[in-house]
Amino acid sequence: MTAGVRIGVLALQGDFAMHAQALGRCGVETIEVRKPEQLADVDGLVIPGGESTTLLKLMDAWGFVPALEQYHAEGKPIFGTCAGLILLARDVQNPRQFSLGLIDVGVERNAYGRQRESFEARGVATLDGRRTPIEMVFIRAPRICRLGPGVQTLAEHRGETVMAREGTVLVATFHPELTDDPTVHRYFCEIVRTGHPTHVDASSRSSVSGGASTTDVPPTHSRGR
Ligand code: GLN
Repeated sequence: MTAGVRIGVLALQGDFAMHAQALGRCGVETIEVRKPEQLADVDGLVIPGGESTTLLKLMDAWGFVPALEQYHAEGKPIFGTCAGLILLARDVQNPRQFSLGLIDVGVERNAYGRQRESFEARGVATLDGRRTPIEMVFIRAPRICRLGPGVQTLAEHRGETVMAREGTVLVATFHPELTDDPTVHRYFCEIVRTGHPTHVDASSRSSVSGGASTTDVPPTHSRGR
């Protein structure tokens, strides 16, 4: 289904290897991207979780900021999870820091209290108008505290958006690569394969409201990020 598609995983720091495995299970070729020139070889890019301040320093050192702005301007899809979302957001709090601003959301870093720093939940996403069960692992996760008018909520947890999309930019506050559930990576592969965003109309923008029920389960992953 996604043969012929090549997706890069930004491999400066963080959880890139697990993303490459998850994408591999979707049948796409993956490349670990360490230099901006490699962006020319990939049809889509995953920015993994990790530590956003460290990622920012490394991105800056390697010249990734203008390269990613250019990549996005060319219409190439980007998927950011957790720290990756923080880097892609329009504005970041706790504390304020630079971000690329490629999706019109505001995020608060490390927004869950100590007890719930890391946890798993099962929920329902609405992808291409279909309700789909998904597994979610949250690790020192950010919270999306503002959604711009062009941003579509794709999944919620306890009434808050945890997965969203604006055009070719997909973000999640959780780590789909740490589960065996391929749903979210498959969805991104499909965005990359079709090469253009599906139409987002006003009626679908809040389509998960009331429909994205979630159940928390005890954490089994506890990575220190
Ligand atoms: N807490 C990290 C940050 O602020 C993100 C954690 C993660 O990516 N799992 O950058």
